[in-house]
Amino acid sequence: KAKAAGKARYALFDTSLHTEVADRLRLEGELRHAIDDGRLSVAYQPVFDLRGGAAGPGGAPRLAGFEALVRWQHPVDGSISPGAFLPIAEEAGLMVRLTDFVLHCACRQLREWQLRGPAFAALTMNVNLSGHDIAHPALVARVMRALMEAEVRPDRLCLELTENILMSRLEGALPALKELRRLGVVLAIDDFGTGYSSLSHLSTLPIDGLKIDRSFVSRLEAGSNEAAVVRSIVLLGSSLGKDVVAEGIETEQQLRQLQDMGCAFGQGYLLSRPLKPADVPRLLQGSEAVAAPPPSDAGAVP
Ligand code: C2E
Ligand code: MG
Ligand code: MG
Ligand code: MG
Repeated sequence: KAKAAGKARYALFDTSLHTEVADRLRLEGELRHAIDDGRLSVAYQPVFDLRGGAAGPGGAPRLAGFEALVRWQHPVDGSISPGAFLPIAEEAGLMVRLTDFVLHCACRQLREWQLRGPAFAALTMNVNLSGHDIAHPALVARVMRALMEAEVRPDRLCLELTENILMSRLEGALPALKELRRLGVVLAIDDFGTGYSSLSHLSTLPIDGLKIDRSFVSRLEAGSNEAAVVRSIVLLGSSLGKDVVAEGIETEQQLRQLQDMGCAFGQGYLLSRPLKPADVPRLLQGSEAVAAPPPSDAGAVP
């Protein structure tokens, strides 16, 4: 009897495993087609300057730019989160094409929004890179092609690399990252604080900014350990001349605390959810945008 039960359990396991594998293969095929047919989309989460502009500290956050976040609206399964389908894309070798799709969409959108008025010319766009991208031999050419096609200045594009991706591929990626930076492209470490980059590295890495991971921001409370960590990252960033962005700001209190700490930039549901492109013009209309006008033409697209 025990044997029979064991066999039944095994059979059950076998079936569910089989379904899982079949599901996965189906999704992989569908994802491949979605990328080929340009059926993915991109949402744009606004990034704000928390320093309050002319109003000074305590003034309202001003729109500074956007982060591009890929979206997959599956015809049957509904919207699938990047957390669920990016690992499939990685394993199926689809990441480079996915990134190119996002890069091109994001640059074209940025250009369109910049052209809506002189106040919007300095808006920036952040795009997330995967490990495959930073190891890709044509990374620099791919990025520059997207910029030139859209006629976006390199210094208006920021590429985000997570700490783990950066540290695990650093040696191979270093020449390309340096070249991108030399061309004016901005580089930032994403999810900072969750990975294992050593502080000694930070001063020598070719990066311009740090994004403080949401997990620290969500546990910000006056006097908490997280508050001490965030305060230290803000100080560290500014003393190294890096732009510091806080991710995942959800409450007024978190926002005020970050402003008190001198954190220059922030994004999060409190300020704005990721938006469909069609919803961005309304945001532009309503915003007392934006950053200062560009200092010079250095880095302009030829
Ligand atoms: P990330 O780059 O750290 O992006 C921030 C994530 O936090 C986004 O989730 C965003 O929607 C979410 N978020 C923003 N504000 C808040 C908030 O106040 N509260 C909470 N709870 N969440 C907030 P999303 O879009 O699901 O993306 C998840 C991750 O997937 C991203 O984390 C990024 O690592 C990756 N990803 C997204 N789009 C792309 C892409 O185009 N290429 C690559 N390589 N990775 C991407
Ligand atoms: Mg990011
Ligand atoms: Mg992030
Ligand atoms: Mg994050």
